[in-house]
Amino acid sequence: MDCLFCKIINREVPAEIIYEDESIICFLDINPSNPGHALVVPKVHCENLLDASGETLRSLISIVPKISRAIMSGLNYDAFNFSVNNGAAAGQIISHLHFHIVPRREGDGHKLFGGKPYEPGEIEQVAEKIKAAF
Ligand code: AMP
Ligand code: ZN
Repeated sequence: MDCLFCKIINREVPAEIIYEDESIICFLDINPSNPGHALVVPKVHCENLLDASGETLRSLISIVPKISRAIMSGLNYDAFNFSVNNGAAAGQIISHLHFHIVPRREGDGHKLFGGKPYEPGEIEQVAEKIKAAF
C-alpha cells in the first residue's frame, strides 16, 4: 500500500517525530499553520474517522492533552486548535487518519471558519433531518 504516513511510521520516509508509543506516532507537519503544528496519527492504517475502531480513536484522543501541553509549554503558546479533515471535500489530502494540533497565540492572525445565522424556521428542519438519519 502506498501510504505516506505508513511510510513515516515504518521509517521509510523521514519525519520530525515528537512522540511515539505502541499505537500512536506524532510528527511535525512540514507545512505548518504555526511552528509546532503537529499530526497525531494511529500506527494502524485507517482512512478516516469513520473507518477507525473505537480502540484506535480512544488512544488517539487520550494522547492529545499530553502532546498539546508539551507543544504549548515548549514553544510558548497559549492555546491550540484541534481538528480533523475528514474526506476530500473537507480538505483531507492524506488518506491515513490524522488529528491536527495547531498551536495558537493571541494575534497570530489565523481565522476560524466563518458562520452565518439560519433563516427563520430553518434550524428546526435541519435538526429533524439529522435526527431522522440516526
Ligand atoms: P490533511 O489535509 O488533513 O490531509 O493534512 C495533511 C497534512 O500533512 C498537511 O497539513 C501537510 O502539510 C502534511 N504533510 C504532507 N506530507 C508530509 C510529510 N512528509 N511530513 C509531515 N507532514 C506532511
Ligand atoms: Zn497508512
